[in-house]
Amino acid sequence: MNTLFAANWKMHKTRAEANQTARDLVRLVSALPAGREALLIPPFTAIDATLHGLGGASGFQVGAQDFYPAAHGAFTGEVSPAMLLDAGARWALTGHSERRHVIGESDAFVGQKTAFGLAQGLGVILCVGETMEERKAGQLKDVLIRQMEQGLQNVPQDISPERLCLAYEPVWAIGTGLVAGPEEILEAHALVRRLLEGILGSGARSVRILYGGSVKPDNASEIIALDNVEGVLVGGASLKADDFSRIVLA
Ligand code: PGA
Repeated sequence: MNTLFAANWKMHKTRAEANQTARDLVRLVSALPAGREALLIPPFTAIDATLHGLGGASGFQVGAQDFYPAAHGAFTGEVSPAMLLDAGARWALTGHSERRHVIGESDAFVGQKTAFGLAQGLGVILCVGETMEERKAGQLKDVLIRQMEQGLQNVPQDISPERLCLAYEPVWAIGTGLVAGPEEILEAHALVRRLLEGILGSGARSVRILYGGSVKPDNASEIIALDNVEGVLVGGASLKADDFSRIVLA
């Protein structure tokens, strides 16, 4: 399966800025290296502008940062998976640490979203990861077990592995410049791989596991070369086309 380079733009970029970044990226990358694909994840309001900026460039897709787990109804402020698909997004994030820790989403709600998004036809990137406090208390394994058991609850065992990704993002490495070291990434990704297979069966062997947390142009190639790392989820360094193109080409 292709290595996935995902750009999480968070709450950044107007439509014009998103369009320009997508255009610049296509120009700078010109052709994605074999075996790689890229996913731009703008705010909802810029999904359409980002798609236009990409102009159908091969290997590039657009995703969304969130959705609500219902088809439609009285959910003021929310959008459904079908609305995202209609807008041209093919993927969405669930369980991002900012939604867990800033917005207060529970493990169970993240699980509801993951199963619903997949059932509605979105590809889903389920994000998991421990805080520094949890790591210091030796709770890495417990946190991953809890977040993955609940996050993948109700995901059918026969899910196509290309439609689901896990993203291991240690909370202490997100937006801090503190990147997890190779041993820390290897340990966590091996654990995520084992848990994936334990929960979803051997079919999950080819589900991609992304690393996220202060990925930059100068550390990306080392990270994607590690065992059980099949992509990266990039925040800060994905905002500028120049930085993100260097990551995609790393
Ligand atoms: P960062 O964010 O690359 O800025 O650390 C990663 C993320 O939040 O997905």
